[in-house]
Amino acid sequence: MKAVRFYAPGDVRIEDVAEPVCGPDEVKLRVRNCSTCGTDVKIRNNGHQNIDPPRTMGHEIAGEVVQVGEDVSGWSVGDRAQVIAAVPCGECYECRRGWMAVCENQTSVGYQYEGGFAEYLVVPREVLKVDGLNRIPENIGYDEASVAEPFACAINAQELVHVGEGDTVVVFGAGPIGCIHIRLARANGAERVFLIDVNAERLAMSAKAVGPDEVINGSEVDVVERVKELTGGRGADVVITATAANVAQEQAIRMAARRGRISFFGGLPKTNPFIQCDSNLVHYRELMIMGANGSAPSHNKRALEYIASGQVPVKDLITARLPLDRALEAFDVVARGEAIKVTVEP
Ligand SMILES: [Zn+2]
Ligand SMILES: [Zn+2]
Repeated sequence: MKAVRFYAPGDVRIEDVAEPVCGPDEVKLRVRNCSTCGTDVKIRNNGHQNIDPPRTMGHEIAGEVVQVGEDVSGWSVGDRAQVIAAVPCGECYECRRGWMAVCENQTSVGYQYEGGFAEYLVVPREVLKVDGLNRIPENIGYDEASVAEPFACAINAQELVHVGEGDTVVVFGAGPIGCIHIRLARANGAERVFLIDVNAERLAMSAKAVGPDEVINGSEVDVVERVKELTGGRGADVVITATAANVAQEQAIRMAARRGRISFFGGLPKTNPFIQCDSNLVHYRELMIMGANGSAPSHNKRALEYIASGQVPVKDLITARLPLDRALEAFDVVARGEAIKVTVEP
């Protein structure tokens, strides 16, 4: 079968590999959609410490069950399934406390396990062990289901900063995940949502799709001033930074309202993970700064529910579709920011 394999930074190949064999405690999928995100581009360019090459990439996966190991119950051939990407161990202190997104033994599909840019995928037993293979609701497609993984990360973040009724929410980053954050914030009851980016084209494309109440171009205006202006000087109740820009985190702190909640959703470059923070703003204004590390299996299930119920549609966010043998082009489309979500259809 064909698969997209990472060998080294800058060396990703589409090649023929043996079809994976399904063990007695595993489930085999015919991959129908594996969507791409900025992480795939990062891996292609820089590699990742947790990847032992060669490794099949791809972590936003939906497919059809074609084989079920004899020791596995609850699944049948023909079932439609979505796969979690971040795999908690289910046993450590954090997992037992219910904080599976920060499991200290977390592994990932496409890193330690073979990923979804392939015709077939054997779902690792570690995924089944934590209930990480999810049934796709009947009324949604494989393409939409593949977006449940990044969507799950947004759910985790918004849950941690309690986005709710009446909130004014600011989202930095007009990528696919920024679009999902905008829609999810609305579904969670936010009263107003503002979208910030420094790339005018990307901002226009995403704003057209999700219609934020206000679009702010950070390359043209002072975003802190603008948010203060739009909120009568009060600032934003919630600020989510869905970007790897250090300055966005600094601006987020400065534009937050009293009691504002800030989600550092996107990680910063390892080479420069530092920001300047006026600690007195945090102190006197009782700001809450929260991290967000991927998602737990339960967030994937909730993402599928949000999509199936129509509360947070994602179909229209998938603006490019490519076959597996053009997966490398898909990475380029993501890198150039030309589409909202790019999906590969093996
Ligand atoms: Zn991703
Ligand atoms: Zn754990």
